[in-house]
Amino acid sequence: MRFPISLTSSLTGYLMKQKLTGTKRFPLVLMLEPLHACNLTCTGCGRIREYIASIRERMTVEACLESADECGAPVVSICGGEPLMYKGIEELTAKLIERKKHIYICTNAVLLEKKVPLFRPTSRLFFNVHLDGMEATHDLIVEREGTFAKAIDGIKAALAAGFQVTTNTTVYKETDMNEIGVLWGYLNELGVNGFMISPAFAYEAVNTTNPTGAKQIFMTREQVQKKFSDAKSMLKRFRLMASPIYLDFLCGDRDLECSAWANPTRNVGGWRGPCYLLGDAHYKTYAELVAATDWSKYGPGNDSRCKDCLVHCGFEPSAVLASNRRFGDMVKMAVWQLT
Ligand code: SF4
Repeated sequence: MRFPISLTSSLTGYLMKQKLTGTKRFPLVLMLEPLHACNLTCTGCGRIREYIASIRERMTVEACLESADECGAPVVSICGGEPLMYKGIEELTAKLIERKKHIYICTNAVLLEKKVPLFRPTSRLFFNVHLDGMEATHDLIVEREGTFAKAIDGIKAALAAGFQVTTNTTVYKETDMNEIGVLWGYLNELGVNGFMISPAFAYEAVNTTNPTGAKQIFMTREQVQKKFSDAKSMLKRFRLMASPIYLDFLCGDRDLECSAWANPTRNVGGWRGPCYLLGDAHYKTYAELVAATDWSKYGPGNDSRCKDCLVHCGFEPSAVLASNRRFGDMVKMAVWQLT
């Protein structure tokens, strides 16, 4: 099974409940950012640039839990900023698990080896480690030597302690997909449980403030599709956590609508709208975010900033939620989950 049974059954029950109650827009994954501070300054990161004014602010554990309760998403992705720098991360994680949530701690893993003893292994908890290439490439992207080696030490420590570990890779214009194959082969040997992948989003904040000509690291929609299409058979050799429908979308083999409302972001500013990537407004509640956002104004063809967006948080929910569903998709998704 690709995901723990508890996650599959929790998601299935949740989706049935939404269907029975006729709810049109609901969250699947809460992107919880308890802080924006980070111990790295990655080249492609919009957060540390966009939230520079509130970089020292943190949500309280109580506010994080209230947000999780209010929106009700069955999965919580704790990101940031660097979540392992958040004082109270172990308390927050334990209390979310008590609420039967499944948690992904999205980390650069610089602190992972040190912090592993603070957590208890359970099928509800994953460490999702950011790795964009082998040592030289990854260290260049995160702009600090030694980061790859530290992340690998953290992964080894987490796996040895019985935790589930996945990795998350962002693909840029210069990414060599063969190197991603080498990276995943190496991580496979270490015992990593699965791999997430997404093309980079061309953040305005990165484009306008990064002095290194960051615009050139991002791809157009056509370039993303070509890169993924050329690498599709290689990617499918690995235990991908991205669904086959989302992979088809990345390769340009099918279209999907954006379902940004399904992966809402909560941070120190409130509920960020419309999505993890675009911060046009912040709202007090998830209900307010959904009601006040004119969703028809967003997505490719509706907003110029969405033109080249194919990112996981906008379009993977569409695969799960059956938007644009084709004959055979159910079988494809079931086989993917069961293998
Ligand atoms: S397409 Fe969707 S996820 Fe991507 S930037 Fe636009 S609103 Fe956000």
